Amino acid sequence: MVIGTFVHTPRLKNLEILLDHIIDVNDHGIITHFAPAATLESRKLIENKEVINIPKGAFILPTFCDLHLHAPQFLYQGTGLDLPLMQWLDGYALKAEARIDANPALARRVYSRLATRLKENGTGTALLFGTIKEETNLILAECMQSAGCRAFVGKLSMDIDITSPESPAKAYLESSSAASLEAAKSFINRCHGLVSHLPRSQRLVEPVLTPRFVPTCTDELLTGLGDISNAQGVRVQSHLAEAKDQVEWVRAERGMEDIDVFDKNNLLTSRTVQAHCTFLTLPDLQKVAARGTAIAHCPLSNAYFSAKPFPLREALDSHVKVGLGSDVAGGYSLDKMNSMRQAVAVSRMREGERKLRPSISPSEDLSIDWKESLYLATRGGSLALGFEGMFCVGVPFDAQEIRLYDPVTNSGIGPLDYFDIEPELGGASEQSNGKLNHEMIEKWWCIGDVRNRGAVWVNGVQ
Ligand SMILES: [Zn+2]
Repeated sequence: MVIGTFVHTPRLKNLEILLDHIIDVNDHGIITHFAPAATLESRKLIENKEVINIPKGAFILPTFCDLHLHAPQFLYQGTGLDLPLMQWLDGYALKAEARIDANPALARRVYSRLATRLKENGTGTALLFGTIKEETNLILAECMQSAGCRAFVGKLSMDIDITSPESPAKAYLESSSAASLEAAKSFINRCHGLVSHLPRSQRLVEPVLTPRFVPTCTDELLTGLGDISNAQGVRVQSHLAEAKDQVEWVRAERGMEDIDVFDKNNLLTSRTVQAHCTFLTLPDLQKVAARGTAIAHCPLSNAYFSAKPFPLREALDSHVKVGLGSDVAGGYSLDKMNSMRQAVAVSRMREGERKLRPSISPSEDLSIDWKESLYLATRGGSLALGFEGMFCVGVPFDAQEIRLYDPVTNSGIGPLDYFDIEPELGGASEQSNGKLNHEMIEKWWCIGDVRNRGAVWVNGVQ
């Protein structure tokens, strides 16, 4: 049972600060009680149970959800990003995948470090792209499960080669659509098998069908994956409308938009998360919303590789489910704090552009604020994967402790300074009672880092 201040975002524009509340969690990691500590029921629970006290100056926030991350590319995080996309794919992305598939020891090392870094950064849930080889993806699932990270693991499906002739990765693809579909089915079974001995509540990993993107997948493969998803209720992830040359390639090769390729193959459903979507039009976004498909917004890698920002406000206005993706390693930071800041900065540039040319969008304000970005990084991403990303009875306790200032000395922690509560300054001020408020949390959002993070819980386990 945890007692203290809780912060979450039940709705897009609504950040709640719940002072002096308690959360009780059962043996399965599920929240069974969430109420002010002063209620009769809360007081009874406090008397009878062991309590974790969150000190003054700290609060509990839902863990972050990373809705798009290429686990093998973590090998080359922050490397080669000055190259054009195709050269970067050859030299780093595909090379990382091929190297990791060829070396299980390297896979285990990279993936267990990734799990550690995710927890360090407060990310409790991640939707992961893996590699082609089944066994390597099982290593990824094992590393996430044993580290206590909730992970949706995607074995790549691809039966068209996109490596260039001079690529160090050589050809990186599966031998046929039939072989690819067999491997996808087999991975689903083996990934479930990995955790089938555990009680349902302790199973943190789940397989995801992962056609890399339309240019790497034949129609037979996409149709087959859509059928598997439909028959078994398996989630799907891919990249959609990420870059101009990709959109044009699909148009030329398939004679239609890539959104329609996914749609006709049953891969644009409420089980699907599509990354980027920067080139989608307003009618496209409305189609995505109607299908119940979610979008992983990756503001940093869009700036590098899409040449265009994602129409975030228009997607939100169209009621599309949206979360944030780090897109490591097309994006260089695993830290969702950075994804949030980048999402806000990009949206403000878009709003500036709209003010100069109001015809570019029907939405009235294209910018989002920090609270909206916090919603996307917690609840938005979680909803895309069937979780709540907020505190309420009946959901897993996935949470992180954020420490703003030391309750004894009243001095800020890590990079934070709160001058109005520092004792030497004396005198009453609006912050001097030390109760957490929006401005204090906003300061953490702007400049906080890992030094402000205390405990992290996934499924009630610290
Ligand atoms: Zn990606």
